[in-house]
Amino acid sequence: MLELKFIRANPEIVRADLLKRGYTEKVAWIDDLLEKDQKSREITIEVDRLRNRRNVIGREINETRKAGGDIAGLLKEAAAIPGEIKEAEAELQAITERVHYYLMRLPNILHESVPVGKDDTENVEVKRWGEPKVPSFELRNHGELAAEQGWADFERAAKVAGSGFYYLKGRLVLLDMALQRFALDLLVERGYVPLSPPYMMNRAAYEGVTDLADFEDVMYKIDGEDAYLIATSEHPMAAMYKDEIFEEKDLPLKFAGISPCFRKEIGSHGIDTKGLFRVHQFNKIEQFVFCRPEESWAFHEELLANAEAIFQGLGLPYHVVNICTGDIGTVAAKKYDIEVWMPRENMYREAVSCSNCTSYQAVRLNIKVRDPAEFKEKQYVHTLNSTAIATSRAIRAILENNQQEDGSVVIPEALRPYMYGAETL
Ligand code: AMP
Repeated sequence: MLELKFIRANPEIVRADLLKRGYTEKVAWIDDLLEKDQKSREITIEVDRLRNRRNVIGREINETRKAGGDIAGLLKEAAAIPGEIKEAEAELQAITERVHYYLMRLPNILHESVPVGKDDTENVEVKRWGEPKVPSFELRNHGELAAEQGWADFERAAKVAGSGFYYLKGRLVLLDMALQRFALDLLVERGYVPLSPPYMMNRAAYEGVTDLADFEDVMYKIDGEDAYLIATSEHPMAAMYKDEIFEEKDLPLKFAGISPCFRKEIGSHGIDTKGLFRVHQFNKIEQFVFCRPEESWAFHEELLANAEAIFQGLGLPYHVVNICTGDIGTVAAKKYDIEVWMPRENMYREAVSCSNCTSYQAVRLNIKVRDPAEFKEKQYVHTLNSTAIATSRAIRAILENNQQEDGSVVIPEALRPYMYGAETL
């Protein structure tokens, strides 16, 4: 969420940003928001005046009466005040709700380096690593291979939970865990604190961290409870310090979240819904940082470098893209994706999302840092998040990139210590 005082001071910046995103219908919101904001301040002053008047008018009536004056006008005024206050308060509440409606739906301000584009086809490649290998035989579909080899069972999972779910079995379970341990060890070595969060969140906390559309399209709600299954550990990590104030010395805070992720994936269809690429449940190690505003762009690069180190360690070729306006969503000010090479499709596919959300989540969640300099105001912190490893996609990439003609799969060397030294699946 943007700060109201930022919009008041910089309406032109906000309008220009909305135009850059192509959110033309929201440009008109800014005038209405500022008008309503001004009106709410006028009404607040009027309500204060009426309350003061209510407090003194009784005495005035008594004094006028004692002095033999005419109190008819004063009595009429006194009788009208409660109604006037009620009316003004109702108007104020309606205006406040509308302003909040706008604030909850206006997107973050983009970093100047975000490319303009209509959708993911216009993301801009900024880096490539590794040589995509051209297989000398026809690669098997990763899901079919896993099912045939007894490493996964999609059919029985569909019977038990629905399509988009899977049982992992045997060595693929170990691979899933090895990926998590490998990523976690790398992050711990780099100063990140492992964090195992709640897998459910209440609505108020959830509204602080995500786009409102996600409540319909992404998160599963627990029937009859104020509880949503988390779509990523980013969310409970972001909300963890809701309504708190950090001292400067407390920051930065760097976490490695460990959790399953639950996603409805409304609107997904086609080939991606088969196998492990787009599923309703997957495991993820997620990086999360709370920092002072002036540090966040350096941390954005740090999170990307950590994720790159993980994919380099796995020997999986990838490229990094700078996500364009049409694909970035409302929360991030800038987002990099790492897309990993999928040889069967002969293309790079998303494996990591790395975002600087600047103060957008912190304003919604009311998380600040106290500036030690005297007389300086508290500032909202900046928050950043990035996938370290999302296991089901990484497994797919390994099943494709490391597949042998006989259907075996070479385990990346970095994972072998976590798999009893096994060299192949
Ligand atoms: P996100 O939190 O949406 O930025 O996603 C982070 C990462 O999780 C993506 O880059 C993917 O690697 C992975 N991911 C997202 N959605 C799914 C899904 N439905 N199934 C499997 N992996 C996913």
